Amino acid sequence: MTELTEFQRKIAALSLDLELRLNEPMARHTSLRIGGAAEVMAFPKTEEELAELLKLSALLDCKCAILGAGTNVLAPDEGVSGLVICLKDALTGMEALPENRIRVMAGVTMSRAAVFAANLGLSGLEFAHGIPGTIGGGVYMNAGAYGGEICQICPRG
Ligand SMILES: Cc1cc2nc3c(=O)[nH]c(=O)nc-3n(C[C@H](O)[C@H](O)[C@H](O)COP(=O)(O)OP(=O)(O)OC[C@H]3O[C@@H](n4cnc5c(N)ncnc54)[C@H](O)[C@@H]3O)c2cc1C
Repeated sequence: MTELTEFQRKIAALSLDLELRLNEPMARHTSLRIGGAAEVMAFPKTEEELAELLKLSALLDCKCAILGAGTNVLAPDEGVSGLVICLKDALTGMEALPENRIRVMAGVTMSRAAVFAANLGLSGLEFAHGIPGTIGGGVYMNAGAYGGEICQICPRG
């Protein structure tokens, strides 16, 4: 069995009530199925769990990377040190707001968000329906297609 790294020992010692996987292959979480092991990968289910993980990474002074659906990530064969927080299948809430707006959490896929908006009779997200990935990844990458891009529909500031 591989020996635990210092960071893995520290995390394990905290006995956190969170889904954590040690030495999780990044290849399982990227579209191109490439990438070595993440030292620690976390799968938060709620905003509170995500906040706890972010505080923890600051406390332990570890590198922390966010992963959406992994459709635009080339993970290195040698793996990723520190904490990788995977938001796919988590933070999937969506709600209608006044004034023809919607609030969509980071882990929602762009296609689901586009359908949600369309079902409310709202335009603006049509371009995003065919783009793979999450809204969080789309915002970070400013995803776009057919002349539309995320920056055109997100509130500023
Ligand atoms: C077949 C195919 C077709 C594609 N077509 C298009 C296209 O038409 N248009 C287009 O723009 N792109 C396209 N892409 C690229 C990709 O789908 C987009 O870049 C998408 O927005 C990435 O989202 P993701 O959730 O997969 O992000 P990931 O690939 O997981 O992450 C991408 C980057 O965003 C960061 N990130 C992810 N989530 C968050 C978050 N919640 N908070 C902060 N940072 C975050 C990650 O750290 C990483 O740096 C395509 C990809 C594939 C495989």
